[in-house]
Amino acid sequence: MMNSTELHQKGWNLDNSYSNLPETFFTKQEPEAVKAPKVIKLNHELAKALGFHPEDLEKQDSVEVFAGNRLPNGSVPLAQAYVGHQFGHPNMLGDGRAILLGEQVTPEGKRVDIQLKGAGRTPYSRGGDGRAALGPMLREYIISEAMHALTIPTTRSLAVVATGESIVRETELPGAVLTRVAASHLRVGTFQYGANFSTVEELKELADYTIQRHFPHIKDDENPYLSLLNEVVKRQAALLAKWQLVGFIHGVMNTDNMTISGETIDYGPCAFMNEYDPKTVFSSIDTQGRYAYGNQPKIAGWNLARFAEALLPLFGEEKEEALKVAQEAVLRFPPQYEENWLTGMRAKLGIINEEEQDEVLIKDLLQLMENHQVDYTNTFLSLTYDHVTESELFETKDFKEWHQKWHERLSRQKDSMEASKELMRRHNPVVIPRNHRVEEAIEAAVQKDDYSVMEKLLAVLSSPFELTPDKEEYCHTPPDSDEPYQTFCGT
Ligand code: AMP
Ligand code: MG
Repeated sequence: MMNSTELHQKGWNLDNSYSNLPETFFTKQEPEAVKAPKVIKLNHELAKALGFHPEDLEKQDSVEVFAGNRLPNGSVPLAQAYVGHQFGHPNMLGDGRAILLGEQVTPEGKRVDIQLKGAGRTPYSRGGDGRAALGPMLREYIISEAMHALTIPTTRSLAVVATGESIVRETELPGAVLTRVAASHLRVGTFQYGANFSTVEELKELADYTIQRHFPHIKDDENPYLSLLNEVVKRQAALLAKWQLVGFIHGVMNTDNMTISGETIDYGPCAFMNEYDPKTVFSSIDTQGRYAYGNQPKIAGWNLARFAEALLPLFGEEKEEALKVAQEAVLRFPPQYEENWLTGMRAKLGIINEEEQDEVLIKDLLQLMENHQVDYTNTFLSLTYDHVTESELFETKDFKEWHQKWHERLSRQKDSMEASKELMRRHNPVVIPRNHRVEEAIEAAVQKDDYSVMEKLLAVLSSPFELTPDKEEYCHTPPDSDEPYQTFCGT
């Protein structure tokens, strides 16, 4: 029989390539043990994909790993260094409450970071306690898994473990540790850190490492560092379009919260838009609307300019030439983003071929949504499934005219109406994690220790493109939708 000390090692297959980088990029740091770890949620599907038997991970002995009380074999735990432009201002940051256990190499040979978020203080904690509260970690779990099901690149959540300790925020809250799985935790801010605090040689090592890990096909390019910039521009253009197409608002698009891999990271004050309005902001600290829905693509471009600046020393001796190629690369972001967005919008409206006037047709619909303050997701849903949701918009003259133009447009392609509808069904989610449903699930869990609300929510969010009867109630917009919803940064 296997004894418990072996059980907690089962399935782990860790490597630590990041720890071979120059030491300036991290500090070796073990997680701080917690009092009474208890598994709250384990992601069975993800666990299997990573090479674990979910039943093994449920055992208390394994839970200790997700709490930071034990280390799996082969782990070289560390906190990563990075800086970040927060709301436009540069700050020294780093993992203040996260510990990278290492990189799990999956049975398919994929390499992913396994990180404990809320695992105690590190040299980068500044004034913070290194801890996380249960509510926000459940929020990250729910929304990151919903994003994954929506086919949006994202970090994922493997486990949430309660610590059995309280943490002090505005009130005392139960503590938790989230196990985050990411293609890597390399950020724009990691490169900004390198540009500010390392030698050019070390920065080059970081870039080479990144290329090896995420973009091995560019390593023999004439200027691989410029190719790196181009690749990141491409991935972020694709990502931002996907966010906009589902109405996702990140909330804190600081440069430390933008990955090099092109995955969505750091689910703090994020939320999905209800009524269509480009000015929608959810973060309570974003008083200027810097990170409003309609600003996100522009901010991504701004962040990529910071990435390009950080890479400049690697672009060659000729300073002016380096600046020129960097600028050209960053300027390719807006058209690439637009192209991705337009392709996605065409799909949402069942448009298969391309006509120049499509953009006007799309923007007219968005304008109607804004004028009539109607729900973004449900409007597309109704177009897809012929008015499953009620909306006063559909009764208006403006909309009827638009609807006719849309139908005329669809008739100008050789594909059948059924082909259009099929495309629409694959691109218009039936459910999104609406704020009020997410909050309701978290409240039941945290206040009443009732996880049934969250489980039901997670179940419907796992197949967002299938119209099934259990989803109907999740399509409803918040009852009191004139009250602006806000999420808070004190996570
Ligand atoms: P975030 O807003 O989650 O992107 O975090 C910004 C920075 O603050 C990162 O460097 C975090 O590691 C750090 N941070 C956030 N919360 C805490 C905390 N409770 N203790 C220590 N550092 C924290
Ligand atoms: Mg962050």
